[in-house]
Amino acid sequence: MKSINIRPEIETIKDEIIETRRDIHKHPELGFEVHRTAGLVAEKLKSYGLIVKTGIGKTGVVGDLVGGQPGPTIALRADMDALSLQETGDVSYKSIHDGKMHACGHDGHTAMLLGAAKVLSEKRDQIKGSVRFIFQPAEEGEGGARYMIEDGCLDGVDEIYGIHLWDYQGYGTIGIKSGPVLASADMFDITIKGIGGHGAAPQGTVDCIVVAGHLITALQTIVSRNTDPLESTVVTLGKIEGGHNFNIIADEVKMYGTARAYTEENRQLIKKRMQEILDGVAATFGAVITMDYEDGYPPTINHDSATENALKASKAIVGEGAGFPYQSMGGEDFSYYIQKIPGCFFFIGSAPEGSEPMSVPHHCSHFDIDERSLRVGASVFVELIMG
Ligand SMILES: [Zn+2]
Ligand SMILES: [Zn+2]
Repeated sequence: MKSINIRPEIETIKDEIIETRRDIHKHPELGFEVHRTAGLVAEKLKSYGLIVKTGIGKTGVVGDLVGGQPGPTIALRADMDALSLQETGDVSYKSIHDGKMHACGHDGHTAMLLGAAKVLSEKRDQIKGSVRFIFQPAEEGEGGARYMIEDGCLDGVDEIYGIHLWDYQGYGTIGIKSGPVLASADMFDITIKGIGGHGAAPQGTVDCIVVAGHLITALQTIVSRNTDPLESTVVTLGKIEGGHNFNIIADEVKMYGTARAYTEENRQLIKKRMQEILDGVAATFGAVITMDYEDGYPPTINHDSATENALKASKAIVGEGAGFPYQSMGGEDFSYYIQKIPGCFFFIGSAPEGSEPMSVPHHCSHFDIDERSLRVGASVFVELIMG
């Protein structure tokens, strides 16, 4: 059994943290529409005596705790939004809103950070510097972090930390490393236009199904042949649609996909090679191929000194359970914060007790967490500030 040293102040409010998480879980809100959640956050932060600003980044909340001694300003961040998904698990705190669910753990992030804010507000005199608590909307796709930054949430902040509950790891572990931990997450739509015709008379047609076949194969060579095999990249075509019937040559095919990379160089390389391949295949078969490529979140690249601080705090709570170098090709808008200032984003093991890691993945309809992990995350936040 690993020895886990939950901070005693967190241990005393653990039921309150769980209650807050379940309340938010039961009332999930999407994107920027996190009105109830933001209201609850603002009310709690005010009751802890913090200076609270609402309506930051549309519906985000920022709370400032000014310590009794001089020092840096450290920001701690949680996201508040849920997903468009029907919850199928059978828990007492199941979502009461059809088609909306906290299936990524952001309910837990908000509850943990509120718990840490409560504990730290009672230690104000001992705090060297200030703590800024950032609660943002719209992490799942709309990039709420960008709007928070535009509204000044990083002004005067020296460092920022964020954590994600992570069901791919068990309770008592914390995944943390410097450098890239999450990838850029770009999206693209490709349209192939050709000339349709009778399925028995291909002469004179430009068959978009055949063109698509060549294009799919060629696009897979970007990762296998163009990028450095020691640097992770992904090109996925997730959806393809086209054609009319078995005996009709298709005059149009659409494809939808995502590209992932850990560096800006690889991100640009993928985009450039995609365009070259599209142009080449179009010329080869006489089709017209267009692409709508949309930049998503940048890669999340942790800074060395902030990672050291996060690792030290994590080790104080879970000892040897901290530090295995977790990486994923998922994307996260925390990346925008640490493009601007030093910081670290890391992963708190939260796989439900008794379940195999990976059996309850994030974004699945029966997602749940081991609620003991909330104590770990809240303790690490407190430890980061108090040392
Ligand atoms: Zn998510
Ligand atoms: Zn998430």
